[in-house]
Amino acid sequence: MDQQRELVYKDAAIMLRDGRVEFAMPLTRQEIDTWVFDLDNTLYPATSNLFPQISARMGRFIASRFGLETEAARALQKQLFRAHGTTLRGLMVEHAVDPHEFMDYVHDIDLSGLAPDTALTEALAALPGRKLVYTNGSRRHADRMLGHLGLAEHVAGVFDIADAGFIPKPDPAGYHALITRFGIEPRRAVMVEDMARNLQPAAALGMATVLVCTGNDWAAEGAAGDWIQHRTDDLAGWLAALPGG
Ligand SMILES: [Mg+2]
Repeated sequence: MDQQRELVYKDAAIMLRDGRVEFAMPLTRQEIDTWVFDLDNTLYPATSNLFPQISARMGRFIASRFGLETEAARALQKQLFRAHGTTLRGLMVEHAVDPHEFMDYVHDIDLSGLAPDTALTEALAALPGRKLVYTNGSRRHADRMLGHLGLAEHVAGVFDIADAGFIPKPDPAGYHALITRFGIEPRRAVMVEDMARNLQPAAALGMATVLVCTGNDWAAEGAAGDWIQHRTDDLAGWLAALPGG
């Protein structure tokens, strides 16, 4: 892995004004033939308050399933998330919960507060290469969100938690399955994510990485990692400004 990193980061260290060293592989549109986007809080903003709706429904599912009060349910949800990477994985492993039942329930959210994202639609339309979505959620949720945002026609494929055998990111198994399924050449691919730790396996495979900064502490865990090559809090603007257009 160290050897791989050396290649990725060759000539790519830049010093920021505050003295931190940032790694930025020179990235141009022509170099990249596949873009892998996370969905939640990446292709729609964390500020849209959609993910809190999903999280609240997870709590309600747990409260109802185990007969718990709200606070106790929330504590169990957090504990499962920490121990297993996602709440779903914890429920499956520790409580044999049916993943489809859980996901249908938690993704049944109100999208009325979220407008179609014309800036991101235009940025994706102008971006050469294949665009894929890799989510720890369900295909149904991804299709609904992409349709609502106006991005569906620009996305060539969705790889969901069922495709990953219900083993969530950042377990490397899902990344290997993804590149096999879509015939991805990692050195010509970029992964874009709001959870810093989910970019580590992508970088280890040789993919370039872009962290979408949300201000959520749990998403920033690992944000100082040397596998983070690019950062933005404005994905549409960042894509539109990419050299080589
Ligand atoms: Mg996300």
